[in-house]
Amino acid sequence: MTDITDHLAQIRQRIETAADSAGRDAAGITLLAVSKTQPVTAVSEAYRAGQRDFGENFVQEAIAKIEALGNSEARWHFIGQIQSNKTRDIARHFDWVHTIDRLKTASRLSDQRAHYATPLAACIQVNLAEEPQKGGVSATDLEDLACEVAKLPRIALRGLMTIPPADATDDEISASFAELGTWLRRLNERGLNLDTLSMGMSADLELAIAQGSTIVRVGTAIFGPRRHRG
Ligand SMILES: *Cc1c(COP(=O)(O)O)cnc(C)c1O
Repeated sequence: MTDITDHLAQIRQRIETAADSAGRDAAGITLLAVSKTQPVTAVSEAYRAGQRDFGENFVQEAIAKIEALGNSEARWHFIGQIQSNKTRDIARHFDWVHTIDRLKTASRLSDQRAHYATPLAACIQVNLAEEPQKGGVSATDLEDLACEVAKLPRIALRGLMTIPPADATDDEISASFAELGTWLRRLNERGLNLDTLSMGMSADLELAIAQGSTIVRVGTAIFGPRRHRG
């Protein structure tokens, strides 16, 4: 077994164990393999090991891999910050985007999504700790943004995403994951129909699953340390 195949099996086991402890069905949790900075050979290897969902942060780098995998069953998730001049490429090449935080870029994605494609599945990124260097809408502005994004015709708003502060303790991380779940329920009470919590990474996926995560985004625990960007 290659390292990547081996690591994927370990992560799937971690997801199973965490789901069991939380009294959840692991089938309700999608593993998103975050392949940013990794070569296409690494992505192909994961694909051969049965992995289907891949996360990328940089548009040009992602397109090269998407084209290399060609007509496969892979699903591509954009998880980087969205620059206005990249929305056309994101709308054209990706199945999901997890990092909506402004109506302007969401509208562009909707306008630019091809009429023959399925609507672009989307999560709104929430910056719960209001870290200035990080993307995401503040909790204060979330409800208004979600209601507007939900109206866009070529976007299917599915849920919320968050990244806890890098220096947070386990208790703080759990509290922020719980808070994201509370926001999801609140928005559903307001009439939205959201089913996705994108939260949890290599180091904290167990905490996220305990708080209801439905997509965990795992990079280094599958692919090893990130490569330098050329
Ligand atoms: C890089 C990245 C990940 C993966 O993080 P790891 O700690 O390597 O698992 C997850 N989510 C986002 C948004 C990322 O940018």
